[in-house]
Amino acid sequence: MQILCYHCHKPYALNKAAIHAALDLATAENLSHYDAPCPHCRRVNRVSHKELLRAAPDWKPQAAERSTNE
Ligand SMILES: [Zn+2]
Repeated sequence: MQILCYHCHKPYALNKAAIHAALDLATAENLSHYDAPCPHCRRVNRVSHKELLRAAPDWKPQAAERSTNE
């Protein structure tokens, strides 16, 4: 997904692995957003959980998978 930095106004991309990691973290810590660091100015931009889910529709919560063993 593409993010436009609020601080330096440069675009940068979050790849699928980064989005999945962000969703894992946000779910584990019960956060409604993720702080995505900008590679240009190193400051963080808030990305909502909903936006992350829209960018990675194939992501599934890990805790839910663990209960269905077999
Ligand atoms: Zn920036």
